[in-house]
Amino acid sequence: ASIIRFERVNKWYGRDFHALRDIELEIGRGERVVVCGPSGSGKSTLIRCINALEPFQQGRLIVDGVALGAEGSAKDNADERAVQQVRRRVGMVFQQFNLFPHLSVLDNLTLGPRHVAGLSRREAEAQALTQLERVHIAEQAHKFPLQLSGGQQQRVAIARALCLAPQILLFDEPTSALDPEMVQEVLDVMTELASQGITMVCVTHEMDFARSVADRIVFMDQGQIVEEAAPAAFFSQP
Ligand code: ADP
Ligand code: ADP
Repeated sequence: ASIIRFERVNKWYGRDFHALRDIELEIGRGERVVVCGPSGSGKSTLIRCINALEPFQQGRLIVDGVALGAEGSAKDNADERAVQQVRRRVGMVFQQFNLFPHLSVLDNLTLGPRHVAGLSRREAEAQALTQLERVHIAEQAHKFPLQLSGGQQQRVAIARALCLAPQILLFDEPTSALDPEMVQEVLDVMTELASQGITMVCVTHEMDFARSVADRIVFMDQGQIVEEAAPAAFFSQP
């Protein structure tokens, strides 16, 4: 059974820019998908739809049983309840780590669980430490983000995404803003998570990661999915 299903999703920015064209895509529970393609091809837009960060104008998108419809339809992307349900099931990691600089690592992680999920401080902190251990950075819990390296900050951002126990993890070019020597530590953490059964959709240009971790590679161009294949087939093409 699929956990994510795009049914002929079309999105425009403004009136003229057709950013997603007839997207049909089914992702299975536990599947690891890498989305690649040239800059501006719609990769980021595609995965932002999965988190209800982008509305779309035609089609339907089902995320872990919750239906998001086109803008203006009965169950549309402005349907607060559906959006909240989707956000609780989906964690997202951005290129720029998007941590709050004035909050400690621990407070960055407990903010959502305390104020969105209603956990007590003690519960939220216990859970935050568990997730920090998962990305091997628990010893930095009381530091502030800017005291950490870019790779460490991105691992904190991954731990934060894990704190709401999401069914799906989205990554939007998680290593593109990092100095080269920090890329591998983030890819290593992503590879560990991939082996733990969570559904992952990653926009990335890291082709070694794609080759070794992805079950499927989706290639986009000009708002369309132009190719889908298992990595072996993809990389053996001439
Ligand atoms: P990618 O992730 O493949 O680089 P994006 O999904 O970020 O592509 O963007 C696809 C296209 O949509 C690009 O041409 C981009 O300039 C355009 N775009 C993205 N966001 C907006 C926006 N908020 N308003 C208008 N155009 C946008
Ligand atoms: P990426 O390719 O990594 O997604 P971009 O540089 O395309 O990043 O976009 C960065 C931000 O600017 C995004 O939030 C996107 O929605 C917005 N954006 C991109 N292109 C446009 C555009 N033509 N008009 C307005 N906003 C845009």
